[in-house]
Amino acid sequence: MTDIPFKRDFKCEYGVIEEVAPNLRRVVATNKSPFTYTGTGTYIVGRGKVAVIDPGPLIDEHVKALIEGLTGEEVTHQLVTHTHNDHSPATRPLKEATGALTYGYGPHGSGRFEQGITVEAGGDRDFFPDVEVRDGDVIEGDGWSFECVYTPGHCSNHICYAWREANALFTGDHVMGWSTTVVSPPDGDMADYMASLRRLLERDDAIYYPTHAGAIVDPKPYVRALIRHREEREQQILSCLARGKGLIADMVDEMYVGLNPNLIAPARRSVFAHIVDLAERGRIKTEGGAKLALDAQYRLA
Ligand SMILES: [Zn+2]
Repeated sequence: MTDIPFKRDFKCEYGVIEEVAPNLRRVVATNKSPFTYTGTGTYIVGRGKVAVIDPGPLIDEHVKALIEGLTGEEVTHQLVTHTHNDHSPATRPLKEATGALTYGYGPHGSGRFEQGITVEAGGDRDFFPDVEVRDGDVIEGDGWSFECVYTPGHCSNHICYAWREANALFTGDHVMGWSTTVVSPPDGDMADYMASLRRLLERDDAIYYPTHAGAIVDPKPYVRALIRHREEREQQILSCLARGKGLIADMVDEMYVGLNPNLIAPARRSVFAHIVDLAERGRIKTEGGAKLALDAQYRLA
């Protein structure tokens, strides 16, 4: 498998707004977990009149650190990359405290609703952006501006924000420095995710700021490694199927050696995301024409 140059040396002080780069600050929430790494990093862009990117989870100390840390300044915009519970819920107390409007692609699952697919789980269903943004839209504030870069895949409403003055991209959970991204159907979509990764290769952002952990400098080789990694996963699945190994659970046992038991279920969902993509491309099918499911039996088409 391709070696992805993960960076796992991130250090932060919880509850403190720290300087990351000129005109960029960050405060990290205490929601550390196998999915969020050291927790959600909420970014603050600008000075005086600022934008907050991904206000984060509803954790009182986090919201308090953000509001108190910005005393004397004005939050004019809240930008949301996507509607997972570790990203968007704190927009509500922050809006109450500051009145700042929220920006995002749409409510949870909106990318899917447009295709007639219902999304059942895992998101912040109470988030409805005041301003719905689309790919290419520009959001302007006091001394800073962002271009919206629609990047579905991790979530159907995932959007990255390109900070034009700094040639930087806030990548949310689309590209993370410490791990690969969870892509879990139906709201997660592998074909969309791969297209959204390839899209980043057409851009010239100098640095990425993901929500979880530190910056990614020299991002293109990193994105290429992520793409290769998923292509290799797909090859592994096709190889399992060529040998008659048609159950996702058995594929995961073979493909993910030494996996943390807590990560078995997410690994199965990730393989399922590849399976859905391969089935849509006509490469594989279910035995007996059964419906695509985590526990179905698959074979090459
Ligand atoms: Zn997420």
